[in-house]
Amino acid sequence: MNAPYNPGLLEQLKLRYGAGPVKMLIGADWVEAASGETFETRNPSTGEVIAHVAAAGDADIDRAVAAARAAFEGPWSKVKPAERANMLLRLADLIEANAEELALLETLDVGRPIQFSRMLDVGGAVGQLRYNAGWATKIYGETAEISAPGEWLSYVLREPVGVCAQIVPWNFPLVMAVGKLAPALAAGCTVVLKPAEQTPLSTLRLGELALEAGIPEGVLNIVSGLGRTAGAALAAHPGINKISFTGSTQTGKAIIEASKSNFARVQLELGGKSPTFIFADADLSRAIPAAAMGIFFNAGQVCAAGSRLFVHEKVADAVLEGVVNMAKGMKVGQTLEADTMIGPLVSAAQLDRVTGYIASGREEGANILVGGERIGEEGYFVQPTVLLDTKVDMRVRKEEIFGPVLCAMRFGDDDDVDALAGRGNETEFGLSASIFTQNISTAHKLARRLKAGTVRINGSGGVDPALPLGGFKASGWGRENGKAGIEAYTELKAVSVSL
Ligand code: NAD
Repeated sequence: MNAPYNPGLLEQLKLRYGAGPVKMLIGADWVEAASGETFETRNPSTGEVIAHVAAAGDADIDRAVAAARAAFEGPWSKVKPAERANMLLRLADLIEANAEELALLETLDVGRPIQFSRMLDVGGAVGQLRYNAGWATKIYGETAEISAPGEWLSYVLREPVGVCAQIVPWNFPLVMAVGKLAPALAAGCTVVLKPAEQTPLSTLRLGELALEAGIPEGVLNIVSGLGRTAGAALAAHPGINKISFTGSTQTGKAIIEASKSNFARVQLELGGKSPTFIFADADLSRAIPAAAMGIFFNAGQVCAAGSRLFVHEKVADAVLEGVVNMAKGMKVGQTLEADTMIGPLVSAAQLDRVTGYIASGREEGANILVGGERIGEEGYFVQPTVLLDTKVDMRVRKEEIFGPVLCAMRFGDDDDVDALAGRGNETEFGLSASIFTQNISTAHKLARRLKAGTVRINGSGGVDPALPLGGFKASGWGRENGKAGIEAYTELKAVSVSL
């Protein structure tokens, strides 16, 4: 993973993407927007424009939904589950065969250090495809004995939900696109997928690989475009049956509003303000790196980032010293260098947002233990930052910053599990939580009391396709991944036959 990048391949990519408008995939065609409009995507390490990309409008969204509908009602409905599985497996193989190119694209467009693009984006996408390929042949209905007079045969069919709109954010474009389309296709649905305007390139390349893998035309359509135009038109389109969205809680509300017109089934994976608890008996050699990487990894642009740290006063000095040392010691810098740990924020807008939050924390009385500043004038880099002395009603403490900014708080022996759970649950979010303690009762009691879709005990780690992913409260609706994730792409139909 720490190999140097291939400069020849990078040059090829720059030439390819710099050559002209990057087209989107509708049916079997690579097309410009009907309006001819484009938008820019930039390299967050330098601010330079990498490409001009087709900006879908209403007409393009209409065409993409029509292509997805034609495939769903037509040829795709005849494709057997085992064939769908094979297509997903072939796409996984093709991603592996093009791994270095996809990793470089992700690094250029997202600003993720190359070692993580290789490991997490490419590896995560392949894992999602192979996991969901397995489900294609394992979608079962049920039978039931009903109580009506006479003799009946009643059974419940699980059918694909239909044409699915999928809207993904910019923090993990490839892996999130694949994490949405793989269960949809495994279940027999068709897809119109919109990548985020900041990071469309790897998803559009994925479309080429999907056609090469034999996924028929119209089954996967990829429309690049802005959220307020293309995204809004897709979410409100009368031709979709379901929408799966990952992004901000604010846009999640707009998606719910849009679904009032088309009754699309809504699945939402939204923001978080996730707590990490470190008890006095915790193994600090695990807890400290987990607390630091939980917020600094990907420059904090992770929905499940551990942005609030609750640490027992007996170990607080040691933990904070450890986290500060990691903040100072990690290489923040150019993403193509193999040993870089932290890259830039994704965009100038995100830089303004994060530095604005740090300023608001300062104004409201927080103390900065480490970091707190932008790095340099080129690119969108921010220092890993730890804030002390925050209050529960401060914006930095309750809102999702989506940057490398940790709020650290102490607790004492008086804080029992109920009190700690109350502090963990004090925001509107409920996505994820981490607990470090050797006491299994404390760990399980706290896990039970936290309102969070994912709880990790004594370890950190990413998303696994086998585990349901989603949030309580304002962190979302429904679950992706696992059995729940595939079932979310199905509708139930009850059939009763009087014998
Ligand atoms: P966003 O919610 O605006 O964008 C996410 C996706 O939704 C993008 O594809 C965007 O084009 C699309 N979109 C935007 N407006 C839309 C609309 N009205 N209808 C349909 N689609 C629309 O997120 P953002 O502005 O890029 O980021 C803002 C904040 O969102 C971040 O700072 C962070 O707090 C949060 N965020 C969360 C996640 C996550 O994984 N949960 C990911 C990215 C961003």
